[in-house]
Amino acid sequence: MPKIIIIGGGWAGCAAALGAAKAGAQVTLLERTDMLLGTGLVGGIMRNNGRFTATEEMIAMGGGDLLRICDGTARHSNIEFPGHKHASLYDIAKTPVEVQKHLEKLGVDIVFEARITHTTMDGKAIRSVRDEQGRIFEGDGFVDATGTAGPMNNCIKYGNGCAMCVLRCPSFGGRVSVAGLAGIEEMIGKKANGSIGAMSGSCKLYKESLAQEIQDELSTRGVSVIPIPEELIEDHLGVKACQQYALDAFKDNIILLDTGHAKLMSPFFSLERLRKIPGFENARYEDPYSGGKGNSMRYFSMAPRDNSLKVLGVENLFCAGEKAGLLVGHTEAIVSGVLAGHNCVRFSMGIVSLELPGELVIGDAIAYVKEAMSTEEGMGKKYTFSGSVYFDRMKALNLYSTNVQEIKERVEAQGLTEIFDRNIVS
Ligand SMILES: Cc1cc2nc3c(=O)[nH]c(=O)nc-3n(C[C@H](O)[C@H](O)[C@H](O)COP(=O)(O)OP(=O)(O)OC[C@H]3O[C@@H](n4cnc5c(N)ncnc54)[C@H](O)[C@@H]3O)c2cc1C
Repeated sequence: MPKIIIIGGGWAGCAAALGAAKAGAQVTLLERTDMLLGTGLVGGIMRNNGRFTATEEMIAMGGGDLLRICDGTARHSNIEFPGHKHASLYDIAKTPVEVQKHLEKLGVDIVFEARITHTTMDGKAIRSVRDEQGRIFEGDGFVDATGTAGPMNNCIKYGNGCAMCVLRCPSFGGRVSVAGLAGIEEMIGKKANGSIGAMSGSCKLYKESLAQEIQDELSTRGVSVIPIPEELIEDHLGVKACQQYALDAFKDNIILLDTGHAKLMSPFFSLERLRKIPGFENARYEDPYSGGKGNSMRYFSMAPRDNSLKVLGVENLFCAGEKAGLLVGHTEAIVSGVLAGHNCVRFSMGIVSLELPGELVIGDAIAYVKEAMSTEEGMGKKYTFSGSVYFDRMKALNLYSTNVQEIKERVEAQGLTEIFDRNIVS
């Protein structure tokens, strides 16, 4: 049975573990901190706009377990907020626990506080990785799902300092890229103005610190939109990683979503100004703790890869999520993760890797982002099924659909129904 080692337990790594386990491999998932989901510990928005189509495609292909878990832990489903339709918001506390239980049920060995800092190579292949504690993990195939966020020195150099976010670099050590350890030169994302990295686009307020009527609206509707008095408006749209939320409505209003926290759709917002807005007199931040000043920085190290998600230059390394390019979001990390994990098993078995066709939105997005990243202009943008340039492309190509039957038929027409649910080892 092939041994697959996944490094990074964010959404991409969890999905890669799922994809590899379902394909029949023995899977070990190594995570730097003490919790799964990475940046997904503070996100929560699913199924908005084109993410609905990608979600249903992955479910039809048999790799939708984690997406189904998010449906099951949703605090609110089918909600609307400016520019976004049929969104659901998963519960940020319950979801990581449900994901962990599911992966363990599939036989995935999850090792926490395993920060990988060394690779042992055999020519152009990785033979093993080693964590800070000196533990060695040997494998036939590896998936780099270490993301692109931080570490602290990047947040300090390119952002407004370490904002003390859920990634908790001071306690667990910062992100380390496996592709980088294997000697691969990686790519760095830029903002539209050419400066390096991008700032995470939302911060979370302690819900109970808000006025009762705001709390009630969040609990019942899932969303609350509060106009900002003109003199208190702050414009941070240009620094956002998630360009689908870089609309004027997100500058002119406080847009809150209920994920357990009150998710404020701005990278940061001065606490002094915020507390001048009626209903926010006692507001305080939950993540990052310094949400009045900054946020985590991302998109520092993306691996060159092909459309099967194999890292170019290393024989047995695949990548997923933000590591695989400028595709932003949980859904994006999950769908690429399942493919990377599945293909890593194929590689270990000597079976040709799977590339998803352009007739499916997931296949088109993976290929389109790779292509876009070959130009300087493309490197200055971010891509997501949920808005901005890629959602426009989905609509132009008639790939956007909320008709579940139609999406199933598209997958069927490509002969890919339940492809990720097949054991290819035994
Ligand atoms: C504040 C914030 C809010 C967001 N909100 C949303 C939202 O509502 N909806 C949405 O779709 N997207 C949202 N996003 C974007 C989304 O979270 C990411 O694009 C996506 O989840 C990235 O997943 P990933 O697994 O590629 O990377 P990450 O989430 O960064 O996960 C990488 C993991 O690898 C681990 N790691 C790193 N180095 C090592 C190492 N050397 N050894 C072992 N482990 C390592 C890290 O600890 C981490 O757990 C948000 C992002 C942020 C920061």
